[in-house]
Amino acid sequence: MIRKHNFSAGPTAIPTEVLERAQAELLNWNKRGLSIMEMSHRSKDFIGVAQKTERDLRTLLKIPENYKVLFLQGGATSQFGMIPLNLARADQATAYLETGMWSSKAIVEGRRYSQLKVVASAAGRDYRSVPSQSELILAADVAYLHYATNETVGGLSFDYVPQTGQVPLVADMSSDILSREIDVSSFGMIYAGAQKNIGPAGLTVVIIREDLLGKAQAMTPKMYNYKIHSDAESMSNTPPTFAWYLSGLVFEWLLARGGVAAIEVINRRKAKKLYSVIDASDFYSNNIVLANRSIMNVPFNIHDAALDAVFLEKAAQADLINLKGHKAVGGMRASIYNAVAEESVDALVEFMADFERSHG
Ligand SMILES: *Cc1c(COP(=O)(O)O)cnc(C)c1O
Repeated sequence: MIRKHNFSAGPTAIPTEVLERAQAELLNWNKRGLSIMEMSHRSKDFIGVAQKTERDLRTLLKIPENYKVLFLQGGATSQFGMIPLNLARADQATAYLETGMWSSKAIVEGRRYSQLKVVASAAGRDYRSVPSQSELILAADVAYLHYATNETVGGLSFDYVPQTGQVPLVADMSSDILSREIDVSSFGMIYAGAQKNIGPAGLTVVIIREDLLGKAQAMTPKMYNYKIHSDAESMSNTPPTFAWYLSGLVFEWLLARGGVAAIEVINRRKAKKLYSVIDASDFYSNNIVLANRSIMNVPFNIHDAALDAVFLEKAAQADLINLKGHKAVGGMRASIYNAVAEESVDALVEFMADFERSHG
């Protein structure tokens, strides 16, 4: 059986060892004679899996005691609406940073449920660098500051955590959670769709400071209310049990490899290899300023866009797949999340050098 080098932006690679374990356990989990996905979410067995998964995530991210971890559905996109509904009054100001496609989508939703202001944008710098701390001037009464730590489409990433004083900081970490060390206590809330750097699609992880719970706007639907999910240990209704279980296997895999600090070293090395081959040539380019280059999503262009299709075709023949850039920006994009092995990046880098030699 062959596993291809998968550079998809999401859903994407899951560690082979994790899939093998899930396969081995699929029909008969823990000798119970049934699959984990055939069990009640209220069963002792599943609750055990759910709690272990949360504990391991807490260990990986060193999540402080005064933060709740929620295992929700609806993707990061549902969070775009849930955040203002839960953390702001309809007449209250909220602050957003605009750095690319995902933060812009959050802004559209945030505007529907709060008095939203874009305090800084990367548009004026052509999305090549993020706004600096000195541009982030916040009124004292804003409910929160929202930003995306890593813009998955543009490959633009924050190299610092905004200082917001008493204003809670809310971060969309869908495409870089668990890729590098963070200090959770700097944030009021962190959220991520699972399908990039955690596990399968269908699960959304929310990490929220307890004092931010219980202030939802009256119109908030029950399933959009963090307090309800928190009080019910994310089992107010049926959670995505299989995605929860599989994410737990990914967390175990990550812990066995030394946790976030260890994977960060590998991630930085992978990204460096890729940017080095891009920077060493006039054939490939990536114009993001060095400090803000994403270590998870590496977009690049070939100097002659007519070669894009040839590149993608030849890459696929070499088992290097899903390298087409997002339709909004074109070109190529290699997403190199935790589960993308360094060998896959080595294979891509070698292919890119070969391709340049034969087409440059
Ligand atoms: C993929 C992505 C989203 C959207 O996630 P869904 O789970 O599809 O709603 C939001 N933000 C970022 C940064 C993303 O990469």
